[in-house]
Amino acid sequence: MQALTGPIAANNIHKWMRAWHQGSAPDAIDLDLVRQMLPDTPYGQGVREIKAPMAHGLASCEGMLARNPNDAAEWGIFYNGHSSAQRQRFTIAHELGHFVLHRSQGPNFSCDKESIYSGADRMRSIEREADDFASNLLIPGDLLRDAISDRRIDLHHLSNLAKRFQVSFESLCIRFVKFTPQRAILVYWDNGFAKYEWRSSSAKKTGARIRRTDDPQEPLAETLAADPDIAQEWNGVDMPADVWCPEESSNITLTEFKHTYGARDRVLSLLLLESAAPRTWDRSWQDEDVSDSFDQFGSRGD
Ligand SMILES: [Zn+2]
Repeated sequence: MQALTGPIAANNIHKWMRAWHQGSAPDAIDLDLVRQMLPDTPYGQGVREIKAPMAHGLASCEGMLARNPNDAAEWGIFYNGHSSAQRQRFTIAHELGHFVLHRSQGPNFSCDKESIYSGADRMRSIEREADDFASNLLIPGDLLRDAISDRRIDLHHLSNLAKRFQVSFESLCIRFVKFTPQRAILVYWDNGFAKYEWRSSSAKKTGARIRRTDDPQEPLAETLAADPDIAQEWNGVDMPADVWCPEESSNITLTEFKHTYGARDRVLSLLLLESAAPRTWDRSWQDEDVSDSFDQFGSRGD
């Protein structure tokens, strides 16, 4: 039997939900319905109830899944009441992911935003699985494929999709980059330094990677990311790809998009590259988990 993964579980839940809705399922999945339904599905064996999610006030914790110590058939979800509505939705979906994928491994799961980047290996991997489940549950692959196929992508379109699925702009952009057949790279800048980078599978296969000039990495010269006068560029600006990616040939074009968050301390850069032939000699991408294109700056020591 194939191991249960986040995407497979999310896909099955979509099938059950769509059957329940009889053709009128909303694009933004009803998480409360999922929560109530799960104990009656093969993913809820031995569980009678998942209690309605409750807000908590702990700033250090985004969310938690816990088994009732007095009743092993009852589980509960807690989320950070100070986070944005979309963040709360993602957290609840993430905790449902722990419920489906990991609850045999322990009686409680305490999740914070950073543990996916800084936790111990095993913890990082279950956090990634729960995130993968959440993004697949909140942004169904078939709807996303229909929404991004055969059209020009820009941040207006991605922002509209984020609203349609009731997810944050960042979550939508990450899911887009993991999903798209296009060569795409997403960089998240935190207070002027690259915090993380995601590459689409075709970007990895063709060896497209961002120039590293420093650690931590600052925005590269001549990019929109480095220009303090440009806060937003949602339509995209074309430039030679080698401004960003040193191994791209000089005739390849890249479109750079930029989104700056309100407080100006966080910036998202989306890069869409023209297609290029796979580099069979660049094997670095094969070492990574192919199902998860997460790629942290410096994580491979290059
Ligand atoms: Zn978690």
